[in-house]
Amino acid sequence: MNPSSIPALEAPEALPFDLMQVPGLGHLFRWRHARPLLQAPLLIVSVVMILHGLFGPTLAPKNLATTLSWLHFRGVLVLVLLAAGNFFCLACPFMLVRQAARRFFTPRFDWPRALRNKWLSLALFILILFLYELFDLWSSPWWTAWLILAYFLTVLVVDGFFKHASFCKFVCPIGQFNFVASTLSPLEVKVRDQAVCTSCHTLDCIRGRREPVSDLVTIRGCELALFQPRKVGNMDCTFCLDCVHACPHDNVGILSRMPGEELLTDPLRSGLGYFSRRKDLAALAIVFTFGALLNAFGMVSPVYAVESWLGKILHVSHEAPVLGIIFAFFLILEPVLLLGLAAWLTRVWAGSRRALLPLMVRYTYGLVPMGFGMWLAHYGFHFLTGLYTFIPVTQSALASLGWPVLGEPRWTLTGLPANIVLMIEIGLLLLGFAGSLTVTYGLAEEDSPRQPMRVFIPWATIGLILFVASMWLLFQPMEMRATLMSG
Ligand code: SF4
Ligand code: SF4
Repeated sequence: MNPSSIPALEAPEALPFDLMQVPGLGHLFRWRHARPLLQAPLLIVSVVMILHGLFGPTLAPKNLATTLSWLHFRGVLVLVLLAAGNFFCLACPFMLVRQAARRFFTPRFDWPRALRNKWLSLALFILILFLYELFDLWSSPWWTAWLILAYFLTVLVVDGFFKHASFCKFVCPIGQFNFVASTLSPLEVKVRDQAVCTSCHTLDCIRGRREPVSDLVTIRGCELALFQPRKVGNMDCTFCLDCVHACPHDNVGILSRMPGEELLTDPLRSGLGYFSRRKDLAALAIVFTFGALLNAFGMVSPVYAVESWLGKILHVSHEAPVLGIIFAFFLILEPVLLLGLAAWLTRVWAGSRRALLPLMVRYTYGLVPMGFGMWLAHYGFHFLTGLYTFIPVTQSALASLGWPVLGEPRWTLTGLPANIVLMIEIGLLLLGFAGSLTVTYGLAEEDSPRQPMRVFIPWATIGLILFVASMWLLFQPMEMRATLMSG
C-alpha cells in the first residue's frame, strides 16, 4: 500500500479545561447561593475595614482599612486576574448589599441611553486615581474608610433606581479595571457546545428562567446583556454565574482559553459591538495602560522634583493644578502623541488606508498586556513586601478591643525580601511586554498579511517605550509613602 494513500489521522481537538468540572468546585458554582456565600466574608471584612478606618489608629501601617485596601486587596485582585479570571466581581460585597436592598426597592428606570458606554466609569476611574494622589489615600485610614462607604452608597443609589446591573456595566471603576485586565485571564464563562445553543428555544441565559404561568423571573439571566452564544471574551463579564444557573441545558462552563486572544480578533460581540468601533473602550484601554505608569510614578522620588519644578513655573503652591498637569501629560498628551505618530507611520510606511483615529482605536488594545504587566509589578510589589502585615495589624486591632486572643502584635512581620520581589516584578513586566508584542503582531498580520512588520514596528515601539519606562520606574527610590506602607 502506497503510504501516501493512507489518510492522515487528524489530531482530535483538545477540549478546554472546565473549572465547573472540578469536583467540589463545580458543585459549589452550580449552587445558587454560591455567590452570597463568597460575598459574605468580604462584606464582613469591608465593615471591619470601615470601622477600623474611622475609629482605629490613624497611622496607616497599623490600620486594617489602609493595609488591607492598599497592600492586600489590590495585590490579590491582580494576581487572581492573571491566574484565573474576574473572581473579585463574583465575590463583590457591594453586590450583596445591593441584592439585599432590592428586596425592598424595585428599580424602575432604564439606564439613560446617552450613558450606555464607558465614558462615565472612565471619568470615575481617573477621578479615583487623582484623589488617591491628591489626598494620599494610602496613608489615610479615615479617607480610605470613607471611600469604601461612598462606594456602598453609590451602588445603592444607582442600582436602587436603575434596572439590571447598571452600576457594574456603566459606573464601577473597579469593575472596568477588572474587565480590561480579565481580557488577559486564562478562564472565561463560555458556552460548552454552540450546537446546543442553536437548538435552544428558551434562551434563558439572557432572558432568565421564568414561571410558566406568571412569567415571573425565578433565576436571573445576564444582567450585563451578554448573550452566551454570542459572547466573546471577558469584557463586561462579572463572573456572576447567573447564566450558568439559568441555562436549562447546563451548557455554560468556566473554560480555559489563550489569555489575550479576545484582543486579537474583532468579531461582533454581544453587549459590546465591535471593539474597533468603541472609542470609549479604547480610551479605557489607554487609561488602563498609561495610568499604570502614572500610578507607579506617583510613588517614586522623581515625582517630587517634577511637582516642585511645575509648581515654580506655574507659581502655585497647591498640589491639585500640578497633579492635573501631570495627569493630562500621562493620560492625554503622551498617548495621543505616541499613538498618533504610530498611526501616521502605519499609513505612510505600511500603506494602510484606515484613518488615524480608527488605527489608534484598533492598536490600542495591543498595549493592554503591557499596562497589566505594570499594574501587576506595582501592586505585586506592595502585596509581596507587605504580605504578612495583616497579622500584626489584626493582632493589634483585637488587643485594642480588649480581646488579645491572637497575642501581642508582631510588628517585625513584614513580607518577602525586596530583592526577590524585584525579580518577580521584572518577570511580570517582561510577561506584559511579550504579551503586547504578541497581540500587536497578530493585529498587524491580520491587517497587512504581506508585510506585517511595517505595521508591527511602529506599535511595538510604543510597547518598548512603555516597557523601558516601567523598568526605569522599578529602579527608582521609593517615596516615603511606599516604604511606610510596606514597612
Ligand atoms: S447558553 Fe443555555 S440558555 Fe443560553 S442559548 Fe445556550 S443553551 Fe440556551
Ligand atoms: S450572567 Fe453575564 S456577567 Fe454573569 S457570568 Fe454570565 S455572561 Fe458573565
